[in-house]
Amino acid sequence: MSDSVGVVWDDRLAEYDFGPGHPLAPVRVQLAMRLAAEFGLFAPGHVSLLTPVEPADEAAILRVHEAGYVEAVRRASSDPHFYDAARGLGTDDDPVFPDMHRAASRVAGASLLGARAIHSGEVQHAVNLAGGLHHALPGAAEGFCVYNDIAVAIAWLLDQGVERVAYVDVDVHHGDGVQAIFWDDPRVLTISIHESPASLFPGSGWPGDIGGPGAVGSAVNVALPAGTGDQGWLRALHGVVPDLLEAFRPQVLVTQQGVDSHFEDPLAHLLVSVDGQRMAFEALHRWAHRYADGRWLALGGGGYEWVNVVPRAWTHLIAEATGRPIRPDTEVPESFHAFVLEALGRQAPGRMTDGREPWPRPFDQGFDPADSVDAAILATREAVFPHYGLTAEPGLWF
Ligand SMILES: [Zn+2]
Repeated sequence: MSDSVGVVWDDRLAEYDFGPGHPLAPVRVQLAMRLAAEFGLFAPGHVSLLTPVEPADEAAILRVHEAGYVEAVRRASSDPHFYDAARGLGTDDDPVFPDMHRAASRVAGASLLGARAIHSGEVQHAVNLAGGLHHALPGAAEGFCVYNDIAVAIAWLLDQGVERVAYVDVDVHHGDGVQAIFWDDPRVLTISIHESPASLFPGSGWPGDIGGPGAVGSAVNVALPAGTGDQGWLRALHGVVPDLLEAFRPQVLVTQQGVDSHFEDPLAHLLVSVDGQRMAFEALHRWAHRYADGRWLALGGGGYEWVNVVPRAWTHLIAEATGRPIRPDTEVPESFHAFVLEALGRQAPGRMTDGREPWPRPFDQGFDPADSVDAAILATREAVFPHYGLTAEPGLWF
């Protein structure tokens, strides 16, 4: 029987908008929802639309953000000239916009709605493409992220008595905000697989960053060298995540599927394809069933190639979550081409594939210490695995 799946959506989520020309434009999410609808992914009986989406209430936001920061966001919401560098507001990355507080609260409300539907048993999986704002810090906005919807949802689950939540972040940027908020909380395992902080914002997320004194081993970071492609990226995912999920035994799996790891993304330097991303989503789905009894909250995130990458990748995510995976060589519907041409004056890609067929060798079958990706994976395993009674180093392989 298909899993019951809730897809969170409300047109007002597009109000989270930093203005013309900003990379995190709402059109990216709208196009993804449109393409998913064109494939009929919302139609099956086991798929429900979770709507309307109301803004998260202040108490839920104050669970993870400082009162002074929320107050600053409120003030910025009605003052176009508001600037507070310490709070990260009014910067190039996070310019203020009208009703910013309500728009950001609604994104948090969307992830909360998904978490609630999973916790109540209404659905097994919930998807919120507008969510995944993993850089927001307790006291400041950062990297296009005002309120950390992920942390708001996780904190709510903990407040309901959930004892173990695992968070896996495959966005190309380090999930620093979520890590910071749960740094010293052993109930939350945060795993981030990202491009090395040596070459990419936010400059944090080294393998040795493993959690606070009360939660050693609860933060996990895989820092991959710039230029890493499908094989290395998937090898890292498989070489770190399943062993830790098996040891940690989460009751809920929360995942962030930013797709800025793609080789066409303008803001980063990994070389992952839509095919690699689709395979990662398939693995995360499988692990949600194997390690968290199917309780899976899947969120959006980064991804700044609005037409060629985000819609296809996230349509694959929804297709995977709803149990109707799309064959890679499937053509993109003509109606979507027409929509993109009209909306953006651009040509949409022809097929749901980049023509790649990644086949990563399992890390456990051996590794090459001279290989920079293997060295990155090993550094993380050596820093964290012993805390779970796991062996960091599999047999050597040349
Ligand atoms: Zn990102």
